[in-house]
Amino acid sequence: MKIDHMENKIDEMGDAHVSTSANNPLRDDAFDLSNEEKIARINEDVKSILQTLGMDLTDDSIKGTPQRVAKMFVNEIFGGLDPKRKPKASTFENKYKYGEMLVEKNITIYSTCEHHLLPIVGRAHVAYISKGSVIGLSKMNRIVDYFAKRPQVQERLTMQIVQELQNALGTQDVACVIDAKHLCVNSRGIRDIESSTVTSEFGGAFKETSVRREFLDYIKLETSF
Ligand SMILES: [Zn+2]
Repeated sequence: MKIDHMENKIDEMGDAHVSTSANNPLRDDAFDLSNEEKIARINEDVKSILQTLGMDLTDDSIKGTPQRVAKMFVNEIFGGLDPKRKPKASTFENKYKYGEMLVEKNITIYSTCEHHLLPIVGRAHVAYISKGSVIGLSKMNRIVDYFAKRPQVQERLTMQIVQELQNALGTQDVACVIDAKHLCVNSRGIRDIESSTVTSEFGGAFKETSVRREFLDYIKLETSF
């Protein structure tokens, strides 16, 4: 990753990055239907779209597509809308008194752009400084994945990850940087295959330049085995 380029982008955006609500825009009745009922409805909806496009839904290759897409929407790529799927962010006492920064980097992100319903693919880098609690490393990946599995904008996803970890760990000292490709930009529209989008959220101590610098330096480290 070209970290200096990334830092420039972060500086440019600063605190002025496009801010949307920290919450996904859901209606009050979002969970009145069961997941099974949602799958049944979306099945009909996708059928209708394909029919309108002129596809022959009796063809063996695509007759299962509406049901497949419906299940994928509800259980997989938008499964993170369901609060019951939220990972329990159990924390532990920091017995060894490790007081430095902990960085979990290169967490794979598969999300979906809420404007085009096309994939957002990239990496998240998450860090925190313990104030007494620590969290399991795989929990950090699970939290990232839970919020990614929604129709998203990258700025909101970045903020949600930080807020969730701040609440779980009882400290403001949490940061997240996401570098991701948006297929709505890369594969259609202006078809810029090289561009990626960087978003960042720096809480508490990470607002200090030196702490932020340390975090970004760790992201830059090559991990080899
Ligand atoms: Zn888009």
